[in-house]
Amino acid sequence: MTSRRIILVLPLVALLSSCTRFTSSHSMPIAKDIQSLSNPQQIVVRHLELDLAVLFEQKSLKGSAVLGIEHVDSQARELILDTRELQIDETETSTDGETFHEAKFQLGNPQKSLGTPLTIQIPGDAKFVRVKYSTSPSASGLQWLTPEQTMGKNAPFLFTQSEAIHARSWIPLQDSPGVRITYTAHITTPKDLLAVMGADHDAFAAPTGDYRFHMNERIPSYLVALAVGDIGFQAAGARTGVYAEKPLLAKAAKEFEDTEKMLREAEQLYGPYRWGRYDILVLPPSFPYGGMENPRLTFATPTVIAGDKSLVSLVAHEMAHSWSGNLVTNATWSDFWLNEGFTVYLERRIIEQVYGREREEMEAALGRQELEQELAGLAPGDQILHINLTGRDPDDGMTNVPYEKGALLLRAIEGQYGREKFDAFLKGYFEHFSFQSITTAQFLDYIRHNLPDIDSKIPINQWIFKPGLPAGAPKPVSDLFAKVEQGAASGNPDTTHWSTQEWLHFLRGLKSPKMGELDEAYHLTQSGNDEILQQWLLMSVRNRYEAAYPKLEEFLVSVGRRKYLKPLYEELVKTPEGKERARGIYEKARAGYHPIAQTTIDGIVGK
Ligand SMILES: [Zn+2]
Repeated sequence: MTSRRIILVLPLVALLSSCTRFTSSHSMPIAKDIQSLSNPQQIVVRHLELDLAVLFEQKSLKGSAVLGIEHVDSQARELILDTRELQIDETETSTDGETFHEAKFQLGNPQKSLGTPLTIQIPGDAKFVRVKYSTSPSASGLQWLTPEQTMGKNAPFLFTQSEAIHARSWIPLQDSPGVRITYTAHITTPKDLLAVMGADHDAFAAPTGDYRFHMNERIPSYLVALAVGDIGFQAAGARTGVYAEKPLLAKAAKEFEDTEKMLREAEQLYGPYRWGRYDILVLPPSFPYGGMENPRLTFATPTVIAGDKSLVSLVAHEMAHSWSGNLVTNATWSDFWLNEGFTVYLERRIIEQVYGREREEMEAALGRQELEQELAGLAPGDQILHINLTGRDPDDGMTNVPYEKGALLLRAIEGQYGREKFDAFLKGYFEHFSFQSITTAQFLDYIRHNLPDIDSKIPINQWIFKPGLPAGAPKPVSDLFAKVEQGAASGNPDTTHWSTQEWLHFLRGLKSPKMGELDEAYHLTQSGNDEILQQWLLMSVRNRYEAAYPKLEEFLVSVGRRKYLKPLYEELVKTPEGKERARGIYEKARAGYHPIAQTTIDGIVGK
């Protein structure tokens, strides 16, 4: 995921108890995950068959999920699944997947942020469980858009966001990243709309209203993804292409035309791409994240379409997850840094291959700046890579720590061993743990086995288990940024060829900006680049630059990317009049935000 704002949980006990080395995932014990109420340690789900009708008027998915199960404990007679706000109509079991018999079930008490456990009675010989159910209009993992909320304005749109623990709001399953499943899906929709999933799909299929998907690789539940809308497709390369609402399609395909090249560079570095196609689906602006690495089909915000490819590091990021995250997955949300720290490191390596070292160093320098700023305001517990978020909503605490601190750790290791050796290590790591979910303890075990002198070179325990940054943490330096600083000091910088990154560095470095003069010189309120515009609007709130307020409102009402919204609302509520403005804007904007963004902004502005 790109958004730099998630942290999740797990106690040290689980870390210590799940230290198995070099075994296949099927025999590997599943790590205890405090963010799931399910019981894969007794009976584990291995396969899912979804059959769902997409009902736009009711804002509901209705149908069934057949789960292929396996007894881990042969005496176990209860299967516990995660659900949230699901209407359960009936549960059944079967020995052959053909003939089903009714089974007793019970829904437990809803638990804060975790949902409601669904317990089903299982005969000893049962191999399949069928749950007939429907989703709630307020399902946290679904966003239902009216035609007005889309770009094309003529058809409704639905998309899912399952990470971190939202799959349970649209599928009854064991919603823990330690549980890997294969799946098939049969999805029916209004006849003229296209359904796509992060699975095998025919990119050139015409809309029929009846779709089938297969995912034959074992994936964690947070990667199950579906979108439905008036969506078109344009090929970019042999294995790559872009899905988008039709008015945006040509522009999006142009922006992402380097995708095939990125994929080849990534394979060069980290081994073969294991997922077949790599397509990108550009969602409507309310998508709460930058991107989501759904396998075979990255979901992306339209805010990265800047017209000059300056924000395509997002694609490099989501693509990198095809190795770090999707192939080798964090076993619990406490190990989230294994997904995101590795991915930011890989993302920058891919960017360097495709766009050069200067671009990479600018992004790395901005990353470190953002991390330092954020660390200054974080409680010590939240500065730790292997974080404990007991009792907290996994989506609440998303920060730069798992992303940027994690990436700096890998950069530090690279610095000690050199690229050649470290690249070989990473390639081996992805191969060794492919299609498995691992804990931080397993990672440590593996690295100490393969780089035996690691502890004498890097304070790796301090990096992972202590707050802050260890002394000697890498500090990326950008020559281009040094030029920006010189230009800013001279009062007359040459901005002709500035990239987004240089603009950001320039704006963030201004101590007491003369807002009116800057706007007159650079037309920042009118910027068509959302990254620059968001930075400018943030400064406008901070410096009470009223000329930008109408744009601020327009931006907050039309964009739903949480990384942009959160700082703006946080800045607004610092003053009484800003708070009033925030409330007024939020009243208009809230209905258009995704449930995940609503939860965040509710907490800042008050509902
Ligand atoms: Zn990510």
